[in-house]
Amino acid sequence: MLGLMQDWPLLCHRVIDHAKEQHGNREVISRSIEGPIHRTNYAEIHGRSLKIAQALERLGVKEGDRVGTMAWNTWRHMESWYGIMGAGGVYHTLNPRLFPEQLVYIINHAEDRFLFIDLTFVPLIEALQDKLPTLEAVIIMTDREHMPDTKIRNPICYEEWIDDVDGDYSWKTIDENSAAGMCYTSGTTGNPKGVVYSHRSNVIHSLANGCPDMLGLSSMDRVMPVVPFFHANGWSLAFSGPMFGASMIMPGMMMDGASIWELLDTERVSTTAAVPTIWLMLLQYLEAENKTLEYLDKVIIGGSACPRAMTQAFQEKYNVDVVHAWGMTEMSPLGSLCSIKPEYAGLDGGAKLDLQEKQGHAPFTIEMKVEDDEGNEMPWDGKTFGRLKVRGPAVSSSYFKEEGGKILDENGFFDTGDVAHIDEHGYMQITDRSKDVIKSGGEWISSIDVENKAVGHPDVAEAAVIGIEHPKWDERPLLIIVPMEGKTPTFDDLKEYLSDKIVSWWMPDDMVLVEEIPHTATGKIQKMALREMFKDHKLPTAEVA
Ligand code: AMP
Repeated sequence: MLGLMQDWPLLCHRVIDHAKEQHGNREVISRSIEGPIHRTNYAEIHGRSLKIAQALERLGVKEGDRVGTMAWNTWRHMESWYGIMGAGGVYHTLNPRLFPEQLVYIINHAEDRFLFIDLTFVPLIEALQDKLPTLEAVIIMTDREHMPDTKIRNPICYEEWIDDVDGDYSWKTIDENSAAGMCYTSGTTGNPKGVVYSHRSNVIHSLANGCPDMLGLSSMDRVMPVVPFFHANGWSLAFSGPMFGASMIMPGMMMDGASIWELLDTERVSTTAAVPTIWLMLLQYLEAENKTLEYLDKVIIGGSACPRAMTQAFQEKYNVDVVHAWGMTEMSPLGSLCSIKPEYAGLDGGAKLDLQEKQGHAPFTIEMKVEDDEGNEMPWDGKTFGRLKVRGPAVSSSYFKEEGGKILDENGFFDTGDVAHIDEHGYMQITDRSKDVIKSGGEWISSIDVENKAVGHPDVAEAAVIGIEHPKWDERPLLIIVPMEGKTPTFDDLKEYLSDKIVSWWMPDDMVLVEEIPHTATGKIQKMALREMFKDHKLPTAEVA
């Protein structure tokens, strides 16, 4: 027997319809790329998204076409997503911090037909466009007054382009399992892989994560996503904000302590979210300038482990609750949040900080388990760790074009690549990463890539790169070199050699020479052993940070 309820596909553009109907006046405030603070609301964004969809259709966008966005968090970026999805297209966020060759690979692999870009990225696209055969036109997100004189072929002025249509448009009605968005993830090996979100997965993920024990969003909130939309689906805030009717405050490209504080204060932000590096800059600014956080209630910190001292500073000095969060691009991205269940409600002081070092518990829609290498499930005792596996309606089932092959085990669980334990109340804590990616300021540095480049130097016999703790960037790379016999390459030699082979922020912060690098039985570098050997190593950049 079937239920007798309506078939109402879970489509992302229904979120902005709802926001317009129920929360039309709610503000969306952005620091524009041109400079001034821009104010709009969900009703206007809805109207402009319809026009974007209509204009895209005029350009020839068809169902399933990928449309790239390379942009900071602003109202324009948000409405472009809704416009793209509403026309049946697939938004594809591009991380401008990637090495240009990676961007070329990703855009070509996704076969992006059009790109929306901020003014900041005009020179980058001018330089790359000859390598992007699928690209037909580039929409520059500004008005006529600020349109640059550009060598981009077929540049379109966003505001003029929108003004050219009347908005008399109906969203495409498509299957809720259709692709809505894409975001590439880069691991230690192989090429970046495309994670493809569906309309259904985005809607379900935002519903599950907006709830009280998770992000806890409501129409009373004023939410500032500092985490860029191009990071792991922007932690879904471009969906959950309008879905729950919260006001949105967008920082644009200015993410330094002073600029973030200014928006938190003048726009009375109640909830904000970003990686620890951002919050470190803010805390340093607050300290130096003797500022307070008058309005902020809650800061969501994830992407890499939130340091205990950071949680303590926010809570004890500035009276702001910290919610530690964990997730990954493949999980849409939220997998757990460390809000307080009744079992832990009585904790305070150090015991509460201990709990908040954990990445937290899963929302409905995430099943989580920890297994040993033989596939045996580990007990939830808060200490036995193993491979963290997840399953749910907003977790990837494979990558775009089946890159990387099968990614689920026989029970449909996805191996996160993280090592973790779970306690009796469901609180998960990451203890390690099974791969060796270095996390610098919320971005990944592939150790293997840098190693492979470094061994190209004629004086280098073998190279390893590991992450060393850094007060500002969380981790920075240390280059470990076994020199060729009779040679003593200097750090300056290696830096010069690598300068045109890796993106600048991947450049190791220091180098050491060793006689040998430890290996496993199968010849792999033993990163754990290296980390242990250099655990007290002080990076020269750590002092000046
Ligand atoms: P990404 O897909 O780039 O967001 O990276 C996902 C990975 O970041 C996860 O698999 C974890 O290794 C790491 N990660 C995310 N959040 C946290 C956190 N709160 N603590 C520790 N590691 C984290």
